[in-house]
This record gives sequence, C-alpha cells and structure tokens, in this order.
Amino acid sequence: MTPNFPTLLREIAEAVKSEFGKGKVANYIPALAKVPPNKFGIAIETIRGEQYHLGDAMERFSIQSISKVFTLAMAFRLERKNLWKRVGLEPSGNPFNSLIQLEYERGIPRNPFINAGALVVTDILLEHFAGPKAAILDFIHTLTGQNDIQYDEEVARSEREFGYTNAALANFIKSHGNIHNSVEAVLDVYFHQCSIAMSCQELARAFLLFANHGVVPATQERLLTSSQSKRLNAIMLTCGFYDEAGEFAFAVGLPGKSGVGGGIVAIIPGELAIAVWSPELNEHGNSVLGIKVLEMFTTLTGMSIF
Ligand code: GLN
Repeated sequence: MTPNFPTLLREIAEAVKSEFGKGKVANYIPALAKVPPNKFGIAIETIRGEQYHLGDAMERFSIQSISKVFTLAMAFRLERKNLWKRVGLEPSGNPFNSLIQLEYERGIPRNPFINAGALVVTDILLEHFAGPKAAILDFIHTLTGQNDIQYDEEVARSEREFGYTNAALANFIKSHGNIHNSVEAVLDVYFHQCSIAMSCQELARAFLLFANHGVVPATQERLLTSSQSKRLNAIMLTCGFYDEAGEFAFAVGLPGKSGVGGGIVAIIPGELAIAVWSPELNEHGNSVLGIKVLEMFTTLTGMSIF
C-alpha cells in the first residue's frame, strides 16, 4: 500500500523543526554563505509519475557535490569498466576534500565522490567532450525535461577564488599522471558542475534514472544499463556521504548523495526518489535536517533497501 505522502511529509517537517540551528551553512564558498539557513524543502517523485512537495521544494539552490553523481554516470557510460583504473571504489572514511589518502594511493582517488575522485571523473569528461560544460547540462536537461537548468556563475567564481584545496588535489593528481587535461581546465568544469542550481523537485526527477534501473521514466529513454545503475547506487550507498556514509546507511538505509549547498537526494530502487534541502550542515558537510528527514521517512514508511 502506498503511504499517504502529503500527510507524512507534513508530519516529518513538523518533527524536524527542532533541528534548525544545530548546523552551519557552508561558508568556505562565500557565495553559499549568503543562503538563508531556514530554507527547507522536500520533494518526492515516483517512477509512476506521482509528485509530492513541501516548503521550498521548487526553489533552486546550489547542488554542489550532488553533481558528482551526474558526471560519474556520464563517465561510466563512456568508459565502462576502464573507469575503475583511474578511480577506486572503496569508502574513504575521510572528509570530502582530504588530501592525505591521495599520497598513499599515488594519485588514484579512493572513490568518485570525494573531491579527488570527482576531479578525475571531470577530467575524463574533458577527454570525451569538446564542450564538457554544455554536455553536463544536456545530460541534466535530458533527465529532468527542464532545459533552463543552468550554472550559477557567481557561485562558480566564488568557489574558484577560494578553491585552494581543490587546486592542490588536482595538481597532486596531475603530478601522478591521473589528470590528462590542464589543471585549470579541469577545475573550471568542476567548479561549474558544483554551481548548477536545481530545485528539490528537479533533483528528485533527475535521480529517478537511478531508481528506475537506468531508464528515464518520463521518456522511457535508457541511459544506463541496469547493471550500471545498480553499481552507481552501490557507490552512493558506500561513498555518498564521505566519512558519514556508514552512519547514513545505518540511519536511513538508502543510496543517496549530499552536497554542501544543503541538498540530499536518495532513491528507493523500483519506487521513487526523494530530495531534501536544508542548508545547515553538520561537521561532515551533510545537511542536518536532510538526514533527519530521510531517517524519519524510511522509519515511518518502512521503505528502504534492506
Ligand atoms: N564544491 C564543493 C567543493 O569542492 C563541493 C563539496 C561538497 O558538496 N561536499 O568543495
């Protein structure tokens, strides 16, 4: 039986209110620090085409590291298993922007969702596309049917200006030969992909690809094999929340991905995608209310992958 989602979402929104003020809006990217901390939205999109939303679910925000799922899906389509020669598949147990592991592992990042791994994935897109920035947007437009989803140039510029750690990661990987294009070019695309602005509703719609085993439900277009979709979901489950991936799997029990803009998207294979936005982050860079909402969602509905 399908749960009564509108009632459930209202109940969850009421219950998580007490979590406001417990986290901090990302301030290491100055343009993100301006986002009001009390923004809050939830959107559910089901494979069958039902839509539910609450609060600021239609307002666009910076998707940040959620973009790493889109670029990984694109690179996986192109490179297939060759991709795993350049980036690993193990949870890192380290913060998303950590440099430490990279030295031990000689420039082969632990997984595609820490920044180091995402930079390699972006480098791969630069090898395949003459216009990688346009290609990334095209992919997202195909997933959502929303052709006006765009880069936020102010956020991209702001991140580039203070992007010393990402520049250090990219230079280090390049010194090991695992970035093939210029560091400048890779960082430019990476900062742009992170700056993409989407709403909860659009994110949930886009992630239906992974809930629907590689087929866009609205158009029936197959973009991934079901095996590729399964594997991307496995990486989301094990690595989507960096050094909080274990806790997220424990509390929520769904594959998902977070971003420092305060967004989290999670999927239930064969059923639905759910996106939450609340900009206050915990010490791992994951949305405090986002995690709480998803924890309540799987607990109250009994829906999870386990
Ligand atoms: N653009 C951010 C960075 O590279 C993305 C990090 C994140 O969302 N976890 O630092």
